[in-house]
Amino acid sequence: MKILKIDHLGIAVNSIDDGKAFWSDVLGLDFEGAETVSEQKVTTAFFPVGESEVELLESTAPDGPVAKYIEKRGQGIQHVAFRVENIDDALAELKEKGVQLIDQQPRIGAGGAKIAFLHPKATNGVLVELCQRD
Ligand code: ZN
Repeated sequence: MKILKIDHLGIAVNSIDDGKAFWSDVLGLDFEGAETVSEQKVTTAFFPVGESEVELLESTAPDGPVAKYIEKRGQGIQHVAFRVENIDDALAELKEKGVQLIDQQPRIGAGGAKIAFLHPKATNGVLVELCQRD
């Protein structure tokens, strides 16, 4: 598998508007607009930082994965996303190595990227996302 870079850091927040007050107003990062991914019950907002981005995640429902994360662990870094050259190859390789996956197949995330999550049990407690952008 070829990992190209850290694509983004996913940060769970109670409110993207409140999050913007720090990431955009204080740090001066550009806010590139918000997008709701209804399947994941989340609204995301991306802030480019050099070659990577900060992704703020706000839950759209109390039973969504981001709401559950905040309930358990509070606001903060929820996942790390690595950009891979080919996500199908990467998943095949991980399966072959017996790595526990949340997504067996890539799905479509914010910005039309192909994404898949690895299980934190397989990664020393870090929720890892792979993503491929063409
Ligand atoms: Zn992400």
